[in-house]
Amino acid sequence: MKHEFPILLVEDNPVSRKVVEKILVKAGHDVTTAETGREALALFKKKFFPIVLTDWMMPEVDGLELCRIIRNTSSEGYVYIILLTARDSKDDIVTGLKAGADDYLNKPISPPELIARLNTGLRVLELEKSLKAANEEIRALSITDPLTGCLNRGYMNEHLPEEIKRSKRYNRALVLIMCDIDHFKRVNDTYGHQAGDLVLTEFAKQIRETLREDIDWVVRYGGEEFLVVLPETEFRGGCSMAERLRTTISLPELKVRGNKIRVTASFGVIGFDPIGADDKITMDDMIARADEYLYQAKAEGRNRVCAGRL
Ligand code: GH3
Ligand code: MG
Ligand code: MG
Ligand code: MG
Repeated sequence: MKHEFPILLVEDNPVSRKVVEKILVKAGHDVTTAETGREALALFKKKFFPIVLTDWMMPEVDGLELCRIIRNTSSEGYVYIILLTARDSKDDIVTGLKAGADDYLNKPISPPELIARLNTGLRVLELEKSLKAANEEIRALSITDPLTGCLNRGYMNEHLPEEIKRSKRYNRALVLIMCDIDHFKRVNDTYGHQAGDLVLTEFAKQIRETLREDIDWVVRYGGEEFLVVLPETEFRGGCSMAERLRTTISLPELKVRGNKIRVTASFGVIGFDPIGADDKITMDDMIARADEYLYQAKAEGRNRVCAGRL
């Protein structure tokens, strides 16, 4: 099995390079070699290497300089650096570690020692990987509504102003749809709060499935209210999307614990066209207008779309 962390081996001496490469390849590592520090940096620009094994003594950019440059350059993850050196006085070791090396290996290289020290590096990289995964999970939880799986208000507050800024900067139209389930209190009162929760979850899922993947997004704005964001969408397109959402939602009967429940929803659509628009328009302005159209849809009898432009 190949190890998942690719290694960059930097060594100017062709014989040493070949020897170390062979040991690494035999142990199942994915190895790229460079003959000089300069070549190593050029390779690093094209691809990220989480492990660097570098010779110390090389012309031009030597191993120490390479360590320093790697440490001072931001990269997508931690780079575990092992210095290969014939210098083993205490002072030399301190100099190497100070330049940013994590570890060092004395030449001539002993294969079992090389593999053992490499394994220490792999443990550090595994730890970093699991921390990154945990962080990503926390991030996902922090922007998601737990009941419906939609994005939450926190995400909206962070990203909707950016979406509006982008729309203004690139002159791309933007549509917001505010959507509220009709007479939802009755669902709770008739079938119970848990059935209401299941209806909400199913409702949100249908909205998500109707939208364009990776472009549109939906926020649980309130209890049974959702805000749909349609970037790069003209007013007319936004109205058709709202109409499509309305029919999608009102068509199926949801089977919840032996009950067949059908819900409808009302929609307020606001279209923003940045060309000729007031530059001061904010997220709150847009939401307030979408809310007004939603209120109008409710007042006119529910299960309908009301829309206007900013
Ligand atoms: P309208 O057509 O005017 O929107 O009527 P409505 O009954 O939907 O509106 P109203 O605002 O009077 O009631 C909303 C209801 O939504 C009341 C509240 O208990 C319910 N609700 C809000 N959040 C949740 C939730 O997470 N789960 C459940 N089951 N019900 C919720
Ligand atoms: Mg050398
Ligand atoms: Mg409602
Ligand atoms: Mg409501």
